[in-house]
Amino acid sequence: MRTSTRPALARNFSGGPGALPRRVLEQAQEAVLELPNTGVSILGLSHRSERFRAILDEAEERVRRLAHLPKTHHVLFLQGGGTLQFSMIPLTMLPPKRSADYLVTGYWSKKSVEAARYHGQVRVAWNGEPDGFRCLPGQDAPLGASDAAYLHYVSNETVDGLQFPAVPSSPAPIVCDASSDFLSRPCDMSRVSLLYAHAQKNLGPAGVTIVLVDEQVLAHRPSGLPPILDYRAHADARSLLHTPAVFSCYVVLLSLRWLEDDMGGLVNMGRINHEKAAMVREALRLAAPFYTSSVEPACASDMNVVFRCPTPALDARFVEHADSAGLVGTKGHRSRGGLRISLYNGVTLEDARAMAQFLLEFAHQHRDQVIPAPPRCISPQGGDARSEHVALPMS
Ligand SMILES: *Cc1c(COP(=O)(O)O)cnc(C)c1O
Repeated sequence: MRTSTRPALARNFSGGPGALPRRVLEQAQEAVLELPNTGVSILGLSHRSERFRAILDEAEERVRRLAHLPKTHHVLFLQGGGTLQFSMIPLTMLPPKRSADYLVTGYWSKKSVEAARYHGQVRVAWNGEPDGFRCLPGQDAPLGASDAAYLHYVSNETVDGLQFPAVPSSPAPIVCDASSDFLSRPCDMSRVSLLYAHAQKNLGPAGVTIVLVDEQVLAHRPSGLPPILDYRAHADARSLLHTPAVFSCYVVLLSLRWLEDDMGGLVNMGRINHEKAAMVREALRLAAPFYTSSVEPACASDMNVVFRCPTPALDARFVEHADSAGLVGTKGHRSRGGLRISLYNGVTLEDARAMAQFLLEFAHQHRDQVIPAPPRCISPQGGDARSEHVALPMS
């Protein structure tokens, strides 16, 4: 038998679609030709076959176990990404005379508010924008009002690099967009009425969105929704209302198997993810003042580390040099510029270590392009004495 040599892959720090574990990629590659022991390609597998039913059932069971999902919640595999959920949620949960409360903590929660406004009354219960999305609301007090139809929040702001440490408390039913951190660490689903996460950041390819929704939400939905926008219709059809993204669902199952059987579950995955982020952040700190980040450390995400070099030209050079070193996907979101290192489940500790090393080397090589300005005097009004850093023109 010929043994195939596998290509060496770049280390992938893309914000999304993101890195998947090597083992998952290899199994996906195999299934494109033949789903093991079936003689059939996953790309040509009928969604009405028993085999596909078994794939969805196993994926559901594994999500239930990994997330400690209460029996009251349905597990749905839908299409339309996070963006369709921005509309399906108010369509389902926001009656005409009520308001929904939203925490605006970054790029994606802002998008979710814009979408919800098409459907009903929205109140911004907390807004981090005036502060430049540097921090999250304090979690000592409940968030949102008791008369709100629901409180919507984004557990990890993928673009801004902010992550809630835990599910916030609220007197209103909680709705969570966990698109970029679902199953990256343990999560308390007993307090969440609806959670949604598309697969393509952390769990699989684009095309499938996992929705965990409490039966109570379905019981109180308005009548007359078109079936494609009705969680009940999807739940009754057990995610086979129409052709699902068969391949994407299969790769999600491979990721779930890897998470449970190889990584040993979410406690271990969360520990590893935290360790990866800590390594990268430590390198940023050691290279100070070369790299800067506006994110407050207490709110910093373990999934997306967002920062800048002293100038946009150096940011561009960073991306270029990182690419040449086989470290890809470091460019910041197009709306923000700067740099972003995403450390999803599929990124290994070795990948993070290589990135930390690169961060130090790049800063060292370019340190002479930054000269500290003389410290500013402390003004009588209490101005700050931090030094500002000015970059010399690039040669
Ligand atoms: C990427 C992202 C989205 C957008 O999802 P689409 O699948 O592109 O519609 C929504 N929410 C969060 C938190 C994201 O990171």
